[in-house]
Amino acid sequence: MQIQKPKGTYDLTPKEAFQRTYLENFIRKVFDNYNYREIRTPTFENTKLFKRSIGEETDIVSKEMYTFNDDEFTLKPEMTAPVIRAYIENRMFNDAPLQKLYYISNMYRRERPQAGRYREFSQFGAESIGSADVTADAEMIFLADAILKGLGLKNYKIRLNTIGTIAERSVFIDALKAYLSDFSAELSNDSKRRLEKNPLRILDTKDPKDLRILENAPVLTDFLNDSTKVQFEKLLSILKELSDRIHVDSRLVRGFDYYTSTTFEFVTDTIGAQNALLGGGRYDMLAEQLGAGQTPAIGFAAGMERIEMALKAESVDIPKETEIMLYICSAGESPRERVLEIINKLRAEGIKCETDFLGRSVKSQMKDANRMNAKYVIVLGEDEINNDTAELKRMSDGNTQKISGLKQIINYLKNED
Ligand code: AMP
Repeated sequence: MQIQKPKGTYDLTPKEAFQRTYLENFIRKVFDNYNYREIRTPTFENTKLFKRSIGEETDIVSKEMYTFNDDEFTLKPEMTAPVIRAYIENRMFNDAPLQKLYYISNMYRRERPQAGRYREFSQFGAESIGSADVTADAEMIFLADAILKGLGLKNYKIRLNTIGTIAERSVFIDALKAYLSDFSAELSNDSKRRLEKNPLRILDTKDPKDLRILENAPVLTDFLNDSTKVQFEKLLSILKELSDRIHVDSRLVRGFDYYTSTTFEFVTDTIGAQNALLGGGRYDMLAEQLGAGQTPAIGFAAGMERIEMALKAESVDIPKETEIMLYICSAGESPRERVLEIINKLRAEGIKCETDFLGRSVKSQMKDANRMNAKYVIVLGEDEINNDTAELKRMSDGNTQKISGLKQIINYLKNED
């Protein structure tokens, strides 16, 4: 029986992998431009790291983690906790008071797969660690926007909210719980479960009946004190050039426990139900929770697959694989070894070239060159090799010219680049 890939995973064939790498390189350039530096951490971490940071009551920790070795290790479901763990463990706070870090890496969650939702998926994201200032929040949102815009996306909105301090939120949660308790029999099963364990998450519901009940529920904004509100207004005014995209949405709460004050999500209506391209926010309590001193921080994480889906939906062109400059067909048996010698010399000069390794006829080698979209072709037989000459054929118009000596070929093709 043929073995297939596990559910919720995917392959990237060479054409797709080329485009993924293009996107990654573009994203890296934007991060670099904003002076964010790359951080890499292990694929698996101590399970306690995620339990302690993301929170035991979240979907991720309660049911989606790939945990092994008697519960000791877990494949990383997200990167914020590993980055903060690494920041503390490597005492990066000693190097500079503000660390601006980015990552591009695969994540693992045992979710129910659907369009835009995988069990192994790729995220890129950034963490700005050390500043409580609202300008750091603004930089993070400008950065996320610069990446999506730079990639060519137009059709997205920025949902923005503040969820206040932990103290403000806990008063709100009590009020929300009290209100929803009166409707507990009518809530969806998911929301019923969350009512006890994680009531804030009920605000994320998509269930129409839940949404109707929520219409008259207490609103978080009413529980925020003046200083939180002033900070949020300040953020909005710094972000004024994005104001067309920004939608303040008091229902935007994030799934993880560690978020405080600013939260945001970039959403699009072009890719179906899983419409969040990226999500982020401030998490001033996380580093302390993991054993460091007080360390304010803010970050975001974006889903690569969803961005690819959105690029496709908006018909954004992504460059295709680079073409082969020269295909050398060999005519006859002995030239094949000589062709490989020649090709090595061309490659050493940085010229992308290919030849036949299957001993095919010249006709089918020409077909091969065509299929690969080679820009030029030469056919080398014994005579050509002995005389060190070749006829260089331009595939776009069939134009040919005689060239003598490898050096001349190299010079000619290098000028073509
Ligand atoms: P989160 O880490 O849950 O805040 O998610 C951040 C972003 O990662 C989301 O906005 C999605 O774009 C992406 N994402 C999260 N979970 C998945 C998944 N299972 N499959 C694909 N993308 C995901």
